[in-house]
Parts: sequence; C-alpha cells; structure tokens
Amino acid sequence: MYFPQPLAKLIEQLRRLPGVGPKSAQRLAFHLLHLPPEEALKLADAIVEARSKLSYCANCFNLTENELCDYCASEYRDSSVICVVQEPRDIAAIEKTREFKGLYHVLQGALSPMEGIGPDQIRIQELLKRLAAHEVTELILATSPNVEGEATAMYIARLVKPLGVKVTRIAHGMPVGGDLEYVDEVTLIKALENRREM
Ligand SMILES: [Zn+2]
Repeated sequence: MYFPQPLAKLIEQLRRLPGVGPKSAQRLAFHLLHLPPEEALKLADAIVEARSKLSYCANCFNLTENELCDYCASEYRDSSVICVVQEPRDIAAIEKTREFKGLYHVLQGALSPMEGIGPDQIRIQELLKRLAAHEVTELILATSPNVEGEATAMYIARLVKPLGVKVTRIAHGMPVGGDLEYVDEVTLIKALENRREM
C-alpha cells in the first residue's frame, strides 16, 4: 500500500514467519534494508543453502546434510535406546543436557485429529520398522507435554509395548502445554532422569 513493491513483497514474506506480526515484519524489513548489501546477501544465501543442502536422515528423520545424521552415523551412540521426539529442534534441546547417549526418532509432528494429523501423517510406521530391524531395549517418549504430545505418546506406547520393548515417558514437572524446545536444561535433565515406564 504505502511501500514500493519490492519492500511490500519483503514485508509480506517476513510476515509468514512464525511469531512475526505486521509491525515486526516492517521493522525486520527496514533493518534488512539498512544492512550492508553483503550482509543481506549472507542471510539470503544461508536460507537458500539450508533449504538446498538439508534433507531428512534415512534412519531417524532428523535434519542432515548426509544420508544419515551425525547421531545415527556415530559409533559412540547407544543404538539400543531410542528417544522419540516431535521435531528435529527437540533433539538440540535434549543434546544440550548431555544426559542422553542413545539414538533419536523424529516423528515430524504429533497426532492431532483437529488438524487432520493421524498416525499415517507422522513417522510412526518408520519407527515400527526400526524396532523390527534392530535390537532396541528402551523407547523413551519425549513428545511435548501438551494434549497432542500426550496423545501421541499413548498411541505409540500401545503399539510398541506388545513388542516387548520397554517404553518410558519423560517425567512431568515440565511446563504443561509447552513445547519441548522451550523447556530449560535442568527441568529437561530431571524429566529424563525421572522417566517412568508406560
Ligand atoms: Zn539419524
């Protein structure tokens, strides 16, 4: 409306980002325009590079530059324990605690009938295939402590327990209704330590 078309376009794209409202989008756009051209290009390049170079790990569906992510490719990780999370960013939260040495499985979402997300829309079948193909002694369900995360944990526990795999859920004491990535490290360490069998 009041902005030259290229600026309006930039604001419109920034507005699509999570947590960015119209005012913030304008502020960010003007900030970007004030950057030296090479700084703005670095940002644009980083977006293009991340989009083009990253894909999902063939084993756990974490983000990776290679066929397998660093955890799945590492010989130092304990492949008999799998921690199930909703998103790749949840792995970063758990890794920060330095408490967990097993592998991960990224569901890429959580069950949400309201949004039409059922078991086939997230990576549950792939998890079952992993459990069938490898010796796994414990499955830790670290989905978020909100309605969708709890429902997803319950669903997976019901499928997996008959296979003879120990299924645990990270403890409460985590802020209910939140996302795993926003949980502080101390709380997350406690939640992992105090996980209970489902
Ligand atoms: Zn992986």
